[in-house]
Amino acid sequence: MTAMNPRVETGSVSRIESCVICGGTASEPLFAVPRVPIHPFCPPAGLGLEPGFGSLDIVACSGCGHIYNAGFDPDRVDDLYAATVLTNTPVSDSMIRGLEATADYILAHAPENPAVADVGGGTGVLAMTMARRAREVHLVEPSRVLRPEDFASRGVTLHQSMFPAPSLGERMFDVIVSRQVVEHIPDPLGFLGSIRSRLESGGIAYIECPSAEYIEATRSIVDFHYPHVHYYRRPALETLLARAGFRVIEVIDVKDGHDRGFLLSAAAESLGTPAPSRHSTGLAAGLAERVGLGRQRLGALDGTIALYGANAYSQALLGLYPESARYGVMLDDTPMYEGQCAYGPGIYIPIRRPSREAFAGLAAVVITSYLHDGAIGHKVRDFGFKGPVLTVRAGARAGPEDWPPSLFACA
Ligand SMILES: [Zn+2]
Repeated sequence: MTAMNPRVETGSVSRIESCVICGGTASEPLFAVPRVPIHPFCPPAGLGLEPGFGSLDIVACSGCGHIYNAGFDPDRVDDLYAATVLTNTPVSDSMIRGLEATADYILAHAPENPAVADVGGGTGVLAMTMARRAREVHLVEPSRVLRPEDFASRGVTLHQSMFPAPSLGERMFDVIVSRQVVEHIPDPLGFLGSIRSRLESGGIAYIECPSAEYIEATRSIVDFHYPHVHYYRRPALETLLARAGFRVIEVIDVKDGHDRGFLLSAAAESLGTPAPSRHSTGLAAGLAERVGLGRQRLGALDGTIALYGANAYSQALLGLYPESARYGVMLDDTPMYEGQCAYGPGIYIPIRRPSREAFAGLAAVVITSYLHDGAIGHKVRDFGFKGPVLTVRAGARAGPEDWPPSLFACA
Protein backbone atom coordinates (compact mmCIF):
# COMPACT_ATOMS: atom_id res chain seq x y z
CA MET A 1 0.00 0.00 0.00
CA THR A 2 1.58 3.27 -1.10
CA ALA A 3 -1.18 5.83 -0.53
CA MET A 4 -1.12 6.96 3.06
CA ASN A 5 -2.43 10.15 4.61
CA PRO A 6 -2.86 12.61 1.72
CA ARG A 7 -3.12 15.66 3.99
CA VAL A 8 -0.31 18.20 4.00
CA GLU A 9 -0.35 21.44 5.98
CA THR A 10 0.55 24.55 3.99
CA GLY A 11 0.15 27.51 6.29
CA SER A 12 -3.40 27.89 7.53
CA VAL A 13 -5.05 25.98 4.68
CA SER A 14 -4.51 22.26 4.12
CA ARG A 15 -4.28 20.79 0.65
CA ILE A 16 -4.11 17.30 -0.80
CA GLU A 17 -0.59 16.70 -1.98
CA SER A 18 -0.47 13.03 -2.92
CA CYS A 19 -2.50 10.61 -4.98
CA VAL A 20 -4.69 8.18 -3.01
CA ILE A 21 -4.39 5.56 -5.77
CA CYS A 22 -0.63 5.44 -6.48
CA GLY A 23 0.88 7.68 -3.80
CA GLY A 24 2.51 9.94 -6.41
CA THR A 25 3.03 13.60 -5.54
CA ALA A 26 3.45 15.02 -9.06
CA SER A 27 0.33 16.16 -10.90
CA GLU A 28 -0.82 18.13 -13.91
CA PRO A 29 -3.41 20.92 -13.73
CA LEU A 30 -6.77 20.17 -15.38
CA PHE A 31 -9.20 22.83 -14.24
CA ALA A 32 -9.10 25.60 -11.65
CA VAL A 33 -11.56 28.04 -10.10
CA PRO A 34 -10.00 30.29 -7.46
CA ARG A 35 -13.02 31.04 -5.28
CA VAL A 36 -15.99 28.68 -5.08
CA PRO A 37 -18.76 28.33 -2.50
CA ILE A 38 -18.13 25.31 -0.27
CA HIS A 39 -21.86 24.77 0.38
CA PRO A 40 -24.68 24.64 -2.22
CA PHE A 41 -26.45 27.41 -0.27
CA CYS A 42 -25.97 29.33 2.96
CA PRO A 43 -26.10 26.78 5.78
CA PRO A 44 -29.30 27.12 7.83
CA ALA A 45 -28.98 29.48 10.79
CA GLY A 46 -28.48 27.47 13.94
CA LEU A 47 -25.79 25.23 12.50
CA GLY A 48 -23.24 27.98 13.15
CA LEU A 49 -21.56 27.45 9.78
CA GLU A 50 -20.21 30.18 7.52
CA PRO A 51 -21.20 30.43 3.84
CA GLY A 52 -17.51 29.98 3.11
CA PHE A 53 -15.30 29.67 0.04
CA GLY A 54 -12.60 27.31 -1.08
CA SER A 55 -10.68 26.68 -4.28
CA LEU A 56 -10.92 24.13 -7.05
CA ASP A 57 -7.52 22.99 -8.19
CA ILE A 58 -8.47 19.90 -10.15
CA VAL A 59 -5.40 17.92 -11.17
CA ALA A 60 -4.54 14.59 -12.78
CA CYS A 61 -1.90 12.50 -11.03
CA SER A 62 1.25 12.30 -13.18
CA GLY A 63 1.75 8.71 -12.09
CA CYS A 64 -1.66 7.10 -12.68
CA GLY A 65 -3.94 9.84 -14.02
CA HIS A 66 -6.32 9.87 -11.01
CA ILE A 67 -8.32 13.12 -10.92
CA TYR A 68 -8.79 14.99 -7.63
CA ASN A 69 -9.13 18.46 -6.14
CA ALA A 70 -5.68 19.24 -4.74
CA GLY A 71 -7.20 22.47 -3.39
CA PHE A 72 -9.59 20.63 -1.07
CA ASP A 73 -9.00 21.42 2.59
CA PRO A 74 -9.45 18.19 4.61
CA ASP A 75 -9.95 20.23 7.79
CA ARG A 76 -13.33 21.31 6.42
CA VAL A 77 -14.83 17.84 6.10
CA ASP A 78 -16.91 18.06 9.29
CA ASP A 79 -18.48 21.39 8.28
CA LEU A 80 -19.36 20.03 4.85
CA TYR A 81 -21.03 16.91 6.24
CA ALA A 82 -23.04 18.91 8.75
CA ALA A 83 -24.76 20.84 5.95
CA THR A 84 -24.84 18.71 2.77
CA VAL A 85 -27.67 16.41 3.70
CA LEU A 86 -30.40 18.80 2.62
CA THR A 87 -29.49 18.56 -1.04
CA ASN A 88 -30.59 14.99 -1.64
CA THR A 89 -34.24 15.36 -0.64
CA PRO A 90 -36.36 13.58 -3.26
CA VAL A 91 -38.79 16.10 -4.71
CA SER A 92 -40.43 14.13 -7.48
CA ASP A 93 -42.14 10.78 -8.02
CA SER A 94 -39.36 9.74 -10.39
CA MET A 95 -36.72 10.34 -7.72
CA ILE A 96 -38.69 8.25 -5.20
CA ARG A 97 -39.19 5.48 -7.80
CA GLY A 98 -35.45 5.55 -8.43
CA LEU A 99 -34.75 4.98 -4.74
CA GLU A 100 -37.26 2.11 -4.63
CA ALA A 101 -35.51 0.51 -7.61
CA THR A 102 -32.15 0.90 -5.81
CA ALA A 103 -33.57 -0.78 -2.68
CA ASP A 104 -34.98 -3.63 -4.81
CA TYR A 105 -31.64 -4.13 -6.54
CA ILE A 106 -29.62 -4.23 -3.32
CA LEU A 107 -32.05 -6.43 -1.35
CA ALA A 108 -32.38 -8.90 -4.27
CA HIS A 109 -28.68 -9.71 -3.76
CA ALA A 110 -28.75 -9.66 0.05
CA PRO A 111 -29.29 -12.43 2.60
CA GLU A 112 -32.91 -12.85 3.79
CA ASN A 113 -34.20 -10.41 6.41
CA PRO A 114 -30.87 -8.60 6.72
CA ALA A 115 -29.37 -6.15 9.19
CA VAL A 116 -28.66 -3.06 7.09
CA ALA A 117 -26.51 0.04 7.54
CA ASP A 118 -26.90 3.05 5.26
CA VAL A 119 -23.73 5.12 5.60
CA GLY A 120 -24.22 8.79 4.79
CA GLY A 121 -27.79 8.12 3.74
CA GLY A 122 -28.91 11.74 3.92
CA THR A 123 -32.58 12.25 4.57
CA GLY A 124 -33.04 8.51 5.00
CA VAL A 125 -35.56 7.83 2.25
CA LEU A 126 -33.64 4.79 0.98
CA ALA A 127 -33.16 3.53 4.57
CA MET A 128 -36.89 3.82 5.25
CA THR A 129 -37.66 2.01 1.99
CA MET A 130 -35.32 -0.86 2.91
CA ALA A 131 -36.72 -1.01 6.46
CA ARG A 132 -39.90 -2.61 5.14
CA ARG A 133 -37.91 -5.71 4.19
CA ALA A 134 -35.05 -5.83 6.69
CA ARG A 135 -34.60 -7.07 10.25
CA GLU A 136 -33.11 -3.72 11.25
CA VAL A 137 -31.85 -0.62 9.46
CA HIS A 138 -29.32 1.83 10.85
CA LEU A 139 -28.83 5.22 9.20
CA VAL A 140 -25.38 6.60 9.99
CA GLU A 141 -25.42 10.25 8.98
CA PRO A 142 -23.46 13.10 10.60
CA SER A 143 -25.87 15.82 9.48
CA ARG A 144 -27.04 17.99 12.33
CA VAL A 145 -30.27 18.78 10.51
CA LEU A 146 -31.93 15.39 11.12
CA ARG A 147 -33.96 14.41 14.22
CA PRO A 148 -33.96 10.80 15.53
CA GLU A 149 -37.68 10.90 16.34
CA ASP A 150 -38.47 11.32 12.62
CA PHE A 151 -36.94 7.90 11.95
CA ALA A 152 -37.89 5.71 14.92
CA SER A 153 -41.48 5.24 13.74
CA ARG A 154 -40.26 4.23 10.27
CA GLY A 155 -38.12 1.34 11.50
CA VAL A 156 -34.82 3.19 11.13
CA THR A 157 -32.32 3.91 13.91
CA LEU A 158 -30.47 7.18 13.32
CA HIS A 159 -26.83 7.51 14.40
CA GLN A 160 -25.78 11.16 14.03
CA SER A 161 -22.12 10.48 13.51
CA MET A 162 -19.46 9.55 11.01
CA PHE A 163 -19.14 5.82 10.27
CA PRO A 164 -18.59 3.66 12.25
CA ALA A 165 -20.67 5.48 14.87
CA PRO A 166 -19.69 4.77 18.51
CA SER A 167 -23.38 4.01 19.22
CA LEU A 168 -23.19 1.02 16.82
CA GLY A 169 -20.92 -0.78 19.29
CA GLU A 170 -19.47 -3.92 17.72
CA ARG A 171 -22.53 -4.48 15.52
CA MET A 172 -21.97 -6.22 12.17
CA PHE A 173 -24.19 -5.96 9.05
CA ASP A 174 -25.45 -8.18 6.24
CA VAL A 175 -25.83 -5.16 3.96
CA ILE A 176 -23.90 -1.88 4.01
CA VAL A 177 -24.95 0.81 1.56
CA SER A 178 -23.07 4.02 0.88
CA ARG A 179 -24.29 6.20 -1.95
CA GLN A 180 -22.60 9.45 -3.05
CA VAL A 181 -20.23 9.50 -0.09
CA VAL A 182 -16.81 8.07 -1.02
CA GLU A 183 -16.08 10.91 -3.47
CA HIS A 184 -16.36 13.39 -0.56
CA ILE A 185 -13.74 11.66 1.56
CA PRO A 186 -10.08 12.70 1.42
CA ASP A 187 -8.87 9.27 2.68
CA PRO A 188 -11.13 6.77 0.89
CA LEU A 189 -9.17 3.65 1.81
CA GLY A 190 -9.71 4.22 5.53
CA PHE A 191 -13.42 4.73 4.89
CA LEU A 192 -13.81 1.64 2.68
CA GLY A 193 -11.81 -0.40 5.21
CA SER A 194 -14.20 0.61 8.00
CA ILE A 195 -17.16 -0.56 5.90
CA ARG A 196 -15.41 -3.84 5.12
CA SER A 197 -14.66 -4.44 8.82
CA ARG A 198 -18.39 -4.26 9.69
CA LEU A 199 -19.57 -6.61 6.93
CA GLU A 200 -20.70 -10.12 7.96
CA SER A 201 -19.24 -12.98 5.96
CA GLY A 202 -21.82 -13.66 3.25
CA GLY A 203 -22.92 -10.03 3.38
CA ILE A 204 -22.88 -7.48 0.57
CA ALA A 205 -21.93 -3.84 0.22
CA TYR A 206 -23.18 -1.36 -2.33
CA ILE A 207 -21.02 1.70 -3.06
CA GLU A 208 -22.26 4.33 -5.51
CA CYS A 209 -20.40 7.40 -6.73
CA PRO A 210 -20.09 9.68 -9.77
CA SER A 211 -18.19 8.47 -12.82
CA ALA A 212 -15.07 10.36 -13.88
CA GLU A 213 -15.49 8.79 -17.32
CA TYR A 214 -18.81 10.66 -17.63
CA ILE A 215 -17.03 13.97 -16.97
CA GLU A 216 -14.29 13.09 -19.45
CA ALA A 217 -16.77 12.09 -22.15
CA THR A 218 -19.11 15.06 -21.71
CA ARG A 219 -16.58 17.63 -20.42
CA SER A 220 -19.14 18.63 -17.83
CA ILE A 221 -17.44 21.44 -15.92
CA VAL A 222 -20.27 21.88 -13.39
CA ASP A 223 -19.53 18.36 -12.13
CA PHE A 224 -16.39 19.84 -10.55
CA HIS A 225 -17.53 21.35 -7.26
CA TYR A 226 -16.03 21.81 -3.84
CA PRO A 227 -17.66 18.98 -1.84
CA HIS A 228 -16.20 16.35 -4.18
CA VAL A 229 -12.56 15.60 -3.43
CA HIS A 230 -12.05 12.66 -5.79
CA TYR A 231 -13.30 11.85 -9.30
CA TYR A 232 -13.05 8.08 -9.71
CA ARG A 233 -12.60 6.22 -12.94
CA ARG A 234 -13.85 2.67 -12.65
CA PRO A 235 -10.37 1.01 -12.47
CA ALA A 236 -9.20 3.48 -9.80
CA LEU A 237 -12.12 2.76 -7.48
CA GLU A 238 -11.84 -0.98 -8.16
CA THR A 239 -8.20 -0.79 -7.06
CA LEU A 240 -9.20 0.82 -3.76
CA LEU A 241 -12.03 -1.68 -3.28
CA ALA A 242 -9.64 -4.60 -3.77
CA ARG A 243 -7.16 -3.08 -1.33
CA ALA A 244 -9.95 -2.66 1.23
CA GLY A 245 -10.87 -6.34 0.89
CA PHE A 246 -13.87 -6.30 -1.43
CA ARG A 247 -14.66 -8.47 -4.44
CA VAL A 248 -16.75 -6.85 -7.17
CA ILE A 249 -19.91 -8.86 -7.91
CA GLU A 250 -21.37 -6.42 -10.43
CA VAL A 251 -20.99 -2.83 -11.62
CA ILE A 252 -24.06 -0.93 -12.80
CA ASP A 253 -24.61 2.39 -14.57
CA VAL A 254 -26.79 4.82 -12.64
CA LYS A 255 -28.52 7.94 -14.05
CA ASP A 256 -27.52 7.19 -17.65
CA GLY A 257 -23.88 6.70 -16.74
CA HIS A 258 -23.50 9.86 -14.64
CA ASP A 259 -22.95 7.62 -11.59
CA ARG A 260 -21.86 4.05 -11.07
CA GLY A 261 -22.82 1.44 -8.48
CA PHE A 262 -20.51 -1.32 -7.23
CA LEU A 263 -22.12 -4.41 -5.70
CA LEU A 264 -19.50 -6.03 -3.49
CA SER A 265 -18.85 -9.06 -1.32
CA ALA A 266 -16.16 -9.60 1.27
CA ALA A 267 -12.88 -10.99 -0.04
CA ALA A 268 -9.42 -11.44 1.33
CA GLU A 269 -7.53 -8.17 1.54
CA SER A 270 -5.20 -7.76 -1.41
CA LEU A 271 -2.71 -5.05 -0.54
CA GLY A 272 -0.61 -5.61 -3.65
CA THR A 273 -3.13 -4.32 -6.22
CA PRO A 274 -1.15 -2.07 -8.59
CA ALA A 275 -2.50 1.35 -9.51
CA PRO A 276 -4.14 1.52 -12.95
CA SER A 277 -2.79 4.09 -15.35
CA ARG A 278 -4.74 6.33 -17.67
CA HIS A 279 -4.24 9.89 -18.76
CA SER A 280 -6.58 12.49 -20.13
CA THR A 281 -5.19 13.80 -23.39
CA GLY A 282 -6.81 17.06 -24.34
CA LEU A 283 -9.15 17.14 -21.32
CA ALA A 284 -7.76 20.38 -19.85
CA ALA A 285 -8.18 22.17 -23.21
CA GLY A 286 -11.68 20.76 -23.63
CA LEU A 287 -12.73 21.95 -20.17
CA ALA A 288 -11.26 25.43 -20.79
CA GLU A 289 -13.24 25.67 -24.02
CA ARG A 290 -16.43 24.86 -22.10
CA VAL A 291 -15.71 27.59 -19.57
CA GLY A 292 -15.43 30.12 -22.39
CA LEU A 293 -18.63 28.97 -24.13
CA GLY A 294 -20.58 29.21 -20.87
CA ARG A 295 -19.26 32.70 -20.18
CA GLN A 296 -20.28 33.86 -23.67
CA ARG A 297 -23.79 32.43 -23.44
CA LEU A 298 -24.43 33.74 -19.93
CA GLY A 299 -23.11 37.16 -20.91
CA ALA A 300 -25.47 37.23 -23.89
CA LEU A 301 -28.54 36.82 -21.64
CA ASP A 302 -29.75 40.39 -21.24
CA GLY A 303 -31.49 40.96 -17.91
CA THR A 304 -32.08 39.14 -14.65
CA ILE A 305 -31.90 35.34 -14.77
CA ALA A 306 -33.05 32.50 -12.54
CA LEU A 307 -31.15 29.34 -11.74
CA TYR A 308 -33.37 26.28 -11.27
CA GLY A 309 -32.00 23.83 -8.69
CA ALA A 310 -30.11 24.74 -5.51
CA ASN A 311 -27.49 22.02 -5.65
CA ALA A 312 -23.85 21.27 -6.37
CA TYR A 313 -24.21 22.35 -10.01
CA SER A 314 -25.60 25.78 -9.17
CA GLN A 315 -22.82 26.00 -6.59
CA ALA A 316 -20.28 25.25 -9.33
CA LEU A 317 -21.85 27.77 -11.72
CA LEU A 318 -21.78 30.63 -9.19
CA GLY A 319 -18.08 29.95 -8.54
CA LEU A 320 -17.32 29.85 -12.26
CA TYR A 321 -19.29 32.90 -13.34
CA PRO A 322 -19.88 35.29 -10.43
CA GLU A 323 -19.93 38.31 -12.75
CA SER A 324 -21.20 36.94 -16.07
CA ALA A 325 -24.91 37.28 -15.30
CA ARG A 326 -27.38 39.08 -13.04
CA TYR A 327 -28.75 36.34 -10.78
CA GLY A 328 -32.19 37.27 -9.44
CA VAL A 329 -33.63 34.12 -7.91
CA MET A 330 -32.85 30.45 -7.30
CA LEU A 331 -35.88 28.28 -7.98
CA ASP A 332 -36.17 24.94 -6.19
CA ASP A 333 -38.99 22.48 -5.53
CA THR A 334 -37.77 21.44 -2.08
CA PRO A 335 -40.23 22.99 0.43
CA MET A 336 -37.62 23.30 3.22
CA TYR A 337 -35.38 25.50 1.04
CA GLU A 338 -37.96 28.31 0.85
CA GLY A 339 -36.48 31.41 2.51
CA GLN A 340 -32.90 30.11 2.34
CA CYS A 341 -30.22 31.77 0.24
CA ALA A 342 -27.75 30.55 -2.36
CA TYR A 343 -24.42 32.32 -2.55
CA GLY A 344 -21.32 32.94 -4.59
CA PRO A 345 -18.45 35.45 -4.52
CA GLY A 346 -20.26 38.74 -3.76
CA ILE A 347 -23.64 37.15 -4.55
CA TYR A 348 -26.68 36.26 -2.45
CA ILE A 349 -29.71 34.80 -4.19
CA PRO A 350 -33.02 34.07 -2.48
CA ILE A 351 -34.39 30.54 -2.97
CA ARG A 352 -38.07 30.34 -3.91
CA ARG A 353 -40.43 27.61 -4.97
CA PRO A 354 -41.46 28.07 -8.61
CA SER A 355 -44.72 29.92 -9.19
CA ARG A 356 -46.07 32.26 -11.87
CA GLU A 357 -45.01 35.23 -9.73
CA ALA A 358 -41.49 33.86 -9.29
CA PHE A 359 -40.96 33.94 -13.06
CA ALA A 360 -42.20 37.53 -13.47
CA GLY A 361 -39.54 39.90 -14.81
CA LEU A 362 -37.00 37.19 -15.57
CA ALA A 363 -35.08 37.29 -18.86
CA ALA A 364 -33.96 33.64 -18.83
CA VAL A 365 -33.86 30.43 -16.79
CA VAL A 366 -30.78 28.26 -16.48
CA ILE A 367 -31.61 24.76 -15.23
CA THR A 368 -28.91 23.67 -12.79
CA SER A 369 -30.69 20.44 -11.74
CA TYR A 370 -29.57 19.11 -15.09
CA LEU A 371 -30.23 15.43 -14.37
CA HIS A 372 -33.93 16.38 -14.43
CA ASP A 373 -33.72 19.10 -17.11
CA GLY A 374 -36.28 17.60 -19.51
CA ALA A 375 -39.06 17.57 -16.90
CA ILE A 376 -38.04 20.94 -15.46
CA GLY A 377 -37.99 22.51 -18.94
CA HIS A 378 -41.64 21.50 -19.44
CA LYS A 379 -42.56 22.73 -15.99
CA VAL A 380 -41.02 26.15 -16.65
CA ARG A 381 -43.08 26.46 -19.85
CA ASP A 382 -46.20 25.33 -17.95
CA PHE A 383 -45.73 28.33 -15.66
CA GLY A 384 -46.05 30.49 -18.77
CA PHE A 385 -42.39 31.48 -19.03
CA LYS A 386 -41.58 32.50 -22.63
CA GLY A 387 -37.89 33.49 -22.45
CA PRO A 388 -34.82 31.35 -23.12
CA VAL A 389 -34.46 28.18 -21.02
CA LEU A 390 -30.99 26.61 -20.92
CA THR A 391 -29.51 23.63 -19.09
CA VAL A 392 -26.04 23.14 -17.65
CA ARG A 393 -26.06 19.58 -19.01
CA ALA A 394 -23.00 19.21 -21.19
CA GLY A 395 -23.78 15.76 -22.62
CA ALA A 396 -25.27 14.83 -25.97
CA ARG A 397 -28.84 14.91 -24.68
CA ALA A 398 -28.90 18.69 -24.41
CA GLY A 399 -30.38 20.39 -27.46
CA PRO A 400 -32.52 18.02 -29.53
CA GLU A 401 -36.21 18.72 -30.10
CA ASP A 402 -37.79 20.43 -27.12
CA TRP A 403 -34.95 19.59 -24.71
CA PRO A 404 -33.42 22.77 -23.26
CA PRO A 405 -30.20 23.66 -25.14
CA SER A 406 -26.92 23.50 -23.27
CA LEU A 407 -25.29 26.56 -21.77
CA PHE A 408 -22.02 25.07 -22.99
CA ALA A 409 -22.94 24.18 -26.57
CA CYS A 410 -21.50 26.19 -29.46
CA ALA A 411 -24.07 28.87 -30.28
ZN1 LIG B 1 -1.72 8.41 -8.92
